[in-house]
Amino acid sequence: MASYRELLSQARARIGEVQPDEAETRLDTATFLDVREQDEHDQGTIPGSVFIPRGHLESQADTKLGPKDQPVVVYCASGNRSVFATETLQQLGFTDVVSMAGGFGRWKNEGRPWITPASLDTEQRNRYHRHILLPEIGEAGQQKLLESKVLLLGAGGLGSPAALYLAAAGVGTIGIVDMDVVDTSNLQRQILHNVDRIGERKVDSAKKTLTALNPDVDVVTYDVRFGADNVLDIIDGYDVIVDGTDNFPTRYLLNDASLLKRIPVVHGSIFRFEGQVSVFAPYVGPCYRCLLPEPPPPEMAPSCSEAGVLGVLPGIVGSIQALEAIKVILGLGDPLVGRLLAYDALEESFRNFKVRRDPECPACGPNVKEIVIAEYDDLCLPHAVLADGTETGH
Ligand SMILES: [Zn+2]
Repeated sequence: MASYRELLSQARARIGEVQPDEAETRLDTATFLDVREQDEHDQGTIPGSVFIPRGHLESQADTKLGPKDQPVVVYCASGNRSVFATETLQQLGFTDVVSMAGGFGRWKNEGRPWITPASLDTEQRNRYHRHILLPEIGEAGQQKLLESKVLLLGAGGLGSPAALYLAAAGVGTIGIVDMDVVDTSNLQRQILHNVDRIGERKVDSAKKTLTALNPDVDVVTYDVRFGADNVLDIIDGYDVIVDGTDNFPTRYLLNDASLLKRIPVVHGSIFRFEGQVSVFAPYVGPCYRCLLPEPPPPEMAPSCSEAGVLGVLPGIVGSIQALEAIKVILGLGDPLVGRLLAYDALEESFRNFKVRRDPECPACGPNVKEIVIAEYDDLCLPHAVLADGTETGH
């Protein structure tokens, strides 16, 4: 029976090894793979490393390391575990793998670059366990969510489910803009609020609910009217905006401001038994004005606040908005950019419509000289106030 020393020297003879100085020349071209344990990794790692503890190497190598001909430099603490890991990767079909002699210990002692990775604590690893299990998210993705900032317009029907799911998912900063107070008639669909909060500011009620759900989340409240005077300041610094407003003037205002700041907007709207969701990625896909350059005629646009809506419907649409926001933050899958998802609750059907960028778009088209953030009247039907003070027709 072979001893550990014999096994190690036999394996070492079958793999390639590089010294730290040579490994450092490969920082830009090779994937650095850290095969140590979590607590070792948390105390310091080589920048840009992929982290797979030795025990998970076989199961995670394919999803985390990419193509099998991509060069890989494997390291552990002192250069022994990485020998076995290198041999395992060769057996899995990776063709260009070497082990770094001396490991992270020698790398660090020789003054080469290293960082302390931002990492989740034990409680967070437990809370987000089901996210971390997904290789497409993992700890790095969860960390990204925790560092992300999402702004919600409205703490109402759409904002409620969106905020709850974003907070539960661990989006680190959630801004909420709403200037209303909680009313009994809200409770049929606005699940952020409850009977004890009637008469309270909606943003305060929302903050209480979200903080109780997830103390990791920093809830920033804006108890103001969202207008031309403050829109650019409010949206500044957010990664994604979830639009849960119920009126056309705010949508146009938000559209133009988000184009200026280049912040993607997850649009959602509901009416009676129908809902729509789309993602407006500035200058990548269409914007709201590409979709709807003119407000709808009056007979098609009933008074925003007076239209009926089935209570569950905003739960579905707002949840899809939260999902799209997370996809945008993590770069996951195909967000609804250039597509409008239409949901019909009575038919129980989802339809996808292609939406193209309008070359003549008054907001994101090539001939737009300067975007003017303008105020619209507070009716459901906006007329743009142009820079010279004139108004466009209905
Ligand atoms: Zn446009």
